[in-house]
Amino acid sequence: MSQHSDTSDPTATDDGLPGQTLAALEKRTRAVLEMAFDAYVEVDRAGVIRDWNSRAEVAFGRPASEAIGQPAGILVPARHREAFTSDLEKILAAGAEFVPEGPLRMRALHRDGREFSTELILYPAEHDGEYRLSGFVRDLTERRRLENALRQLEDHRSILNFLEDGYIELDLRGNSLFANDAYCRIFERTREEVLDPNYTKITQNPVSVDIRELFKQVYETGQPIKAFEYEYKPGRFCEITVSLKRGTDGKASGYVTLTRETTRRKQHEQELARAKDAAEAASQAKSEFLANMSHEIRTPMNGIIGMTELALTTQLSEEQRDFLLTVRSSADSLLAIINDILDFSKVEAGKVALDPQPFDLEECIAASMKGMAVAAHRQGLELVFHVDPEVPAELIGDAARLRQVLLNLVGNSIKFTESGEVVLQVTLEERVDNKLKLRFSVHDTGIGIALEQQARIFEAFEQADTSMTRKYGGTGLGLAISKRIVRLMGGELWLESQPGAGSTFHFTCWFSAASNSAGVAPVPLEELRGIRALIIDDNATNRWIVEKMLRQWGMATEQAESGPAGLAKLAQAVVAQEPIRLILLDEQMPGMSGLEVIERIRTHPRFSGATVMMLTSADQSSSAARCRELGVESYLVKPIKVQELQLAIRKALGMLQESRPARPQPEGPAHSPRLRILLAEDNAVNQKLATVLFQKMGHAVTLAANGGEAVAHWRAGLFDLIFMDVQMPELDGFEATRRIRELEQGSAGHIPIIAMTARAMSGDRDRCLAAGMDDYVCKPVSRQVLERAIERYSVAGARPKPEVLAG
Ligand code: ADP
Repeated sequence: MSQHSDTSDPTATDDGLPGQTLAALEKRTRAVLEMAFDAYVEVDRAGVIRDWNSRAEVAFGRPASEAIGQPAGILVPARHREAFTSDLEKILAAGAEFVPEGPLRMRALHRDGREFSTELILYPAEHDGEYRLSGFVRDLTERRRLENALRQLEDHRSILNFLEDGYIELDLRGNSLFANDAYCRIFERTREEVLDPNYTKITQNPVSVDIRELFKQVYETGQPIKAFEYEYKPGRFCEITVSLKRGTDGKASGYVTLTRETTRRKQHEQELARAKDAAEAASQAKSEFLANMSHEIRTPMNGIIGMTELALTTQLSEEQRDFLLTVRSSADSLLAIINDILDFSKVEAGKVALDPQPFDLEECIAASMKGMAVAAHRQGLELVFHVDPEVPAELIGDAARLRQVLLNLVGNSIKFTESGEVVLQVTLEERVDNKLKLRFSVHDTGIGIALEQQARIFEAFEQADTSMTRKYGGTGLGLAISKRIVRLMGGELWLESQPGAGSTFHFTCWFSAASNSAGVAPVPLEELRGIRALIIDDNATNRWIVEKMLRQWGMATEQAESGPAGLAKLAQAVVAQEPIRLILLDEQMPGMSGLEVIERIRTHPRFSGATVMMLTSADQSSSAARCRELGVESYLVKPIKVQELQLAIRKALGMLQESRPARPQPEGPAHSPRLRILLAEDNAVNQKLATVLFQKMGHAVTLAANGGEAVAHWRAGLFDLIFMDVQMPELDGFEATRRIRELEQGSAGHIPIIAMTARAMSGDRDRCLAAGMDDYVCKPVSRQVLERAIERYSVAGARPKPEVLAG
């Protein structure tokens, strides 16, 4: 290393001790200098480098051989060199007088041109009696780096103090290395307490869990645990996130955790849960109240409606009859309102559960529409519907609820339309596997609804125009109920309308396709293909719908919008030798009516090849009779189902072996068997009403005023059927039924029991069946309802009661 080797030679061997001592001392000094962390540079009085240790070689990038003998100025960058040399000269001039003053700062120059900061300590020395200046030069680069890193760490930690969340760093043994202010605040500790080596509070006794397990798991899996909530003190909650801290070698070196206090949130959640419970209890109470209210109102309503009906069958003056008819219609509308309110509250309370069953869509629509056709036709309205052929015929869904919505929308359309048409169209909107989204659109040509009222009418008890309502009547609940039902079926209800230009209400619903379902359209029939048909109807929608149906089957169609136009088309066809085989004729047309058109056709022998089918809006038996006289093959009342039309056409064209429909059996007591009915009912009016109704049907009635009496009568007598009120004093209908079923155990006997209840809440039916009843009728009960129930059960009930039970 040092080339300065002559100094290490013993100079005075014969001097003995002093020479040896000096040499040993020098050797030791050299060794110390070589071990020093700092560069050692020695210059002579002329400022020339005379000594240079190995650290100096590294720091300045120059081997001793290159440094020694050079002026010290080479150690600083050129721009500082002059100043440096002059300073150095001054120090050298001072010689031994120079008093070192603590470290000096110096920019130094590496051989490769890189500059670095140094700290310099100088002191005067002597070498072989010659003056020297010794300097220790310390490279500050590394220290600066460490200082910066430390400052950054401090900054980083002070940023952590701004965090709302508690932050703590631990080593692997759980000693805390750093904690931010929020941590100390949440756990109510001073920083000194947290950083105390004995601080193990973090891992101590939280209320609900052993938090140490959490750390163990993080250590074992290496995976962080996020937002784990626990009760760290009674009534105080926090969420903790723990992850492993790793050193630069990737090894686990400790943990970092974030803690968020969640006490307030937890309290909110608890309050919310309590509020929810309370709301549910209130809603439960509300539906109980409704069930009771409905019972309380329906019971007297039963009396009013039933007794009015009975009174109407007696000898009355015109005036009395008129009064009673008014009573009955008022009672009917009151009952409708009660049903609406009850229904709305049920939907509101989430009490309506859908009952999906397989059903035939067209059948369901036709049943709804035919019921309303009478009202529509009375007003002179066309009422038609069309189901797109790609809509499957067999669906699974709640047909009763669908009908309820259709009845409401179509009913409204009829109510608010003076003239024109009401058209229902069903299209397929979306298909996902076997789930189908259908769109129902009910269009009318009625009064329409102003834009500003369109949103309001879906609210409960809201009507577009209150002055209108007096004219049309209604509760304003129909659309509110419909909207909720549609939502329940996964769809939406909305409308398009303009005052005076009619309205279209659309709604969508999800259904499932029944496994075997194809489209509504019957397969095109070879026998119908190519047959020419003429549709004569003044209503364009009707013509369009009928044409769509016929074309589906491959028929060739022509249209005419009036009788004369139709006759002209017939004549043209004869001339063109493309005779028309089938005429579908609307009965009610302005100018020439359908009947007149047929009369004209019949007087022209050249039209004799055509088969005529009458499509009518009015079910008037007089015109039906006239049609038969005129040889009309078929008389169909609109709206017409696809299947129905196809069948009628095939029959009319003689393609089907016509089987004469069995004549309907005349109704009346003479034809239903005389039954022995046990009636359990506590209300005097209802007792009287039901008794009279049953007797009028020709049955024998035994009365029981409560459940106990009912059981006793049943044991004592022979009955075919029991009608059982549900709410009765002493022993209610459920309990009475249970006793009867118990007593029947072990025998083959089973008496049909039909519940009669004024409760109309969902679940009541299930309760009745669960109690052992066979069926359920809802009050107020009419003669038809009772007759239908009797029809269903009288056969089964005619079985003789086994002897064993008779006692
Ligand atoms: P309401 O029992 O009164 O008919 P709805 O909820 O069914 O109750 O209807 C609310 C209101 O919306 C009606 O009173 C009427 O003003 C308006 N409306 C509903 N359907 C129609 C329609 N097709 N044409 C015009 N107005 C309608």
